[in-house]
Amino acid sequence: MDKAKRKAIIAGNWKMNKTPSEAKALLSEIAPLVRDADCEIIACVPYVDLAAALEATAGTNIKIGAENCHWAESGAFTGEISTGMLREIGAEYVVLGHSERRQYFGETDETVNKRTKAALAAGLKPIVCVGELLWERECNITEEVIARQIKLDLWRVSEEELKNVVIAYEPVWAIGTGKTATADQAEEVCAFIRAQLVKLYNQSAADAVTIQYGGSMNDGNADELLSKTNVDGGLIGGASLVATKFAAIVKAASK
Ligand code: PEP
Repeated sequence: MDKAKRKAIIAGNWKMNKTPSEAKALLSEIAPLVRDADCEIIACVPYVDLAAALEATAGTNIKIGAENCHWAESGAFTGEISTGMLREIGAEYVVLGHSERRQYFGETDETVNKRTKAALAAGLKPIVCVGELLWERECNITEEVIARQIKLDLWRVSEEELKNVVIAYEPVWAIGTGKTATADQAEEVCAFIRAQLVKLYNQSAADAVTIQYGGSMNDGNADELLSKTNVDGGLIGGASLVATKFAAIVKAASK
């Protein structure tokens, strides 16, 4: 399957930014700028912004996602949010396994897998993040790290469920650092991810998966990154908080 047949997806990951009123204002600014986009657009926002974000984007082409979810349906998990809660409020996507969750909140491949399975079972579309540390790249084990993450994070995810999974390749050394992977580095690892999916599933299942690049993608480098065969979109942190920058990335993905 060629790239043009895969869904190009640009997703903003707002992290811990924007209050509900600020979320409304930002999305109202973004909406008219991306109205004619030829790609899928998602804003993944803090839990407390979900209602405001859904209200602000009703009737637009912007979809809303959360930044995490728990795997249990309910119970004694103070501070956590279930997939059912996200579904009922109207979220469609959820970011899982982001490197900041892995780095600061003890997320492991096992818990990423549990969350991924739960999200899929609830009808949410997970954006599963994988990526190597700088030290791992320097030790020349990027492929080993990525292969392990893909295998474990998607453990027991069926071929049918894979249709609703988006994978984001986010080299940890490029997130929020202003240091972007070169387009060739991004392509090399995104192609490697697709090859792992061929091994775990089959060629046609792997060909249909949207693989994003994330890590300091912005309005200046999006064109080149998104021109690569296996880079089907972007997961955008900092630049997703500036309407004009986010819209420019959406435009680059619409070409
Ligand atoms: C991210 O948070 O997923 C991300 C890629 O951040 P940034 O674009 O700021 O590097």
